[in-house]
Amino acid sequence: MGQRYEAFHRRSIEDREGFWAEQAQLIDWHEPFTQVLDYSRPPFARWFVGGRTNLCHNAIDRHLAERAGQPALIHVSTETNEETVYSFAELHRETMTMAAILAGQGVERGDRVLIYMPMIPQAVFAMLACARIGAIHSVVFGGFASNSLAARIDDATPKVVVSADAGSRAGKAIAYKPLLDEAIRIARHKPASVVLVDRGLAPMERVAGRDLDYAELRKAHAEAEVPVTWLESNEISYTLYTSGTTGTPKGVQRDVGGYAVALAASMRHIYCGKAGETYFCTSDIGWVVGHSYIVYGPLIAGMATILYEGTPIRPDAGILWQLVEKYRVSLMFSAPTAIRVLKKQDPALLTKYDTSSLRTLFLAGEPLDEPTARWISEGLGRPIIDNYWQTETGWPILALANGVERMTAKFGSPGVPMYGYDLHLLHEQTGAELGVNEKGVVAIFPPLPPGCMQTVWGDDERFVETYFTTIPGQAAYSTFDWGIRDEDGYYFILGRTDDVINVAGHRLGTREIEESLSHHAALAECAVIGMADAIKGQVAVAFAVLKDASAAAQPEAALRLEKEMLAIVDRQLGAVARPSRVYFVMALPKTRSGKVLRRAIQAVCEQRDPGDLTTIEDPNALQQVRDAVGSPHG
Ligand code: AMP
Repeated sequence: MGQRYEAFHRRSIEDREGFWAEQAQLIDWHEPFTQVLDYSRPPFARWFVGGRTNLCHNAIDRHLAERAGQPALIHVSTETNEETVYSFAELHRETMTMAAILAGQGVERGDRVLIYMPMIPQAVFAMLACARIGAIHSVVFGGFASNSLAARIDDATPKVVVSADAGSRAGKAIAYKPLLDEAIRIARHKPASVVLVDRGLAPMERVAGRDLDYAELRKAHAEAEVPVTWLESNEISYTLYTSGTTGTPKGVQRDVGGYAVALAASMRHIYCGKAGETYFCTSDIGWVVGHSYIVYGPLIAGMATILYEGTPIRPDAGILWQLVEKYRVSLMFSAPTAIRVLKKQDPALLTKYDTSSLRTLFLAGEPLDEPTARWISEGLGRPIIDNYWQTETGWPILALANGVERMTAKFGSPGVPMYGYDLHLLHEQTGAELGVNEKGVVAIFPPLPPGCMQTVWGDDERFVETYFTTIPGQAAYSTFDWGIRDEDGYYFILGRTDDVINVAGHRLGTREIEESLSHHAALAECAVIGMADAIKGQVAVAFAVLKDASAAAQPEAALRLEKEMLAIVDRQLGAVARPSRVYFVMALPKTRSGKVLRRAIQAVCEQRDPGDLTTIEDPNALQQVRDAVGSPHG
């Protein structure tokens, strides 16, 4: 680790208050805070207590004096062939209009607004509008279907839902409205109104008295002036649901001031973005990366941000670089899966466009394998920075802070602990601190730095239980990731310690998928695991035990059952969670106490040694898994 960075990091831990008070100067405060950190109720940390600020003000209003006419939001859709550039002044206008629309529907400070939207500008207006008036947004990824959406509606209890007729993927419209209608039908909570953007992609049936047309409302509120609501730093900006080991996703809850400061600091120290430049993050607003680095981070830094609806290979695999050239992108943020997809395409497309404006490509969300990192870094001739974090943290835990001191990346490592994170590797069973080259659980000693989750929405106990009680003898935050640290202080991430899997950078709970599959009447029980995949990192694979095993005896019958089960997952959770295969077995490998041996199943699927099997009840069950994966019909 570089000396200057090491001192910077050390100070962030030893003099937390001094360090973060300085970082807090990177944003505008309407009223100064009176206390940097209130840690009187561990592990709950309250940052910048008493300070009043606003995310929307920091993202838009404060830039108006200097850059009103400069690009702020650049929307590109290769799905509908649209390209629209909004200046800071125009984004300000649209956001105030959206804020007036929401306020007109009775949305007040602290009320929830659920946003179920494709990658269109109105999604960003809606997020910023909520931030402006102090409403709490909860964005649900457009790839989720009715049951996933209903669970989030019931937990967030939104007054208003903002949605659209459809999204589009690879040129095919994907209707959102029927999924939303079904979700509201299933949900116990009923939102008072639904604001709908009609893109003209799919027919929509409107529910009288509930569904409202955005275009009409926009006209009515075209001139509305909606002042910023100044919020105490610890009020809630948003909740974002994420999967864990149980079937119920957790609402990760974030504050206002701490998040704004954390993002502003990361834009300076990690991403090295400058006002007036362009940032291109290829994630989706439904994920934390989209919240932090499509919407808030770049705008807080006064940068233009690209909102891209499309795939990395349409119209051809040069599209991302074509956009870099066109908009003189300085910084790019993507996921390893996108790069692995490009790797299969014509390499000439990597150098066809002028990408000289690009300084760094950041990759995150899933493990970045060395060959992919090497391929893209050599192909582009640009540094690649892998960074590791979670929905819970909101910004990187591991990265390189090149804005503080230039450090060399090591292939396969997301770098070193970022300032503010008191990171440790702990023994899973004893909680003992581990040394160089020893594998342990990556843990953060609290308080968590600004920007990290405050709690689980509506469930403080679950926050403490889930994150702070799993490592024996340590009241440390568990990331639920395995890691190892080398002699230079660089970390390597070695997979999850729990049943969370990561498909193409999308975090999925295997438990949720199992619960969905179990709605099929023929199923007795099932286990879903994540299996290594060359492109997506992992894919979900299901092993199913039928009530009547003979029902899948014929290959055609097995295929039909598999299709039916996958259709249930599609309908309930969305295609994003669909297992790549359902294999039928007579029994699941379990311990004598009845616990499914997921790690052993996974190892067998990946043709690895399943390890210690002394507790297995029936070794034959594991052999069946091996046979099933090996046979063409499962
Ligand atoms: P999410 O909350 O969806 O962002 O998923 C967070 C999880 O993704 C982490 O706990 C890791 O398991 C994985 N992850 C994220 N970034 C990286 C990375 N750079 N390298 C390895 N794993 C990562």
